[in-house]
Amino acid sequence: MYRARTGRRPLEITPEMLERIRGAKEQVEGQHAKDIYCPKCRRLLMRKYTDAAGHIDCRCTKCGEAFVVDLFSWRKVK
Ligand SMILES: [Zn+2]
Repeated sequence: MYRARTGRRPLEITPEMLERIRGAKEQVEGQHAKDIYCPKCRRLLMRKYTDAAGHIDCRCTKCGEAFVVDLFSWRKVK
């Protein structure tokens, strides 16, 4: 289940990382985006694009609810 990151130093952003971030933004241009909201308080948690698949573990920063989201079908798996 979800574990908060603690005690980590901030990453140093390298030119390669910046290039990857820019490349990812270009790759999703024109794709349909789907917003995923917290099931408890309806806060926007993330935006999913059509090529996303698999499951992610997340926690709402507003209410603290933790859950697993099936990205393929957008279903919540408790
Ligand atoms: Zn919430």
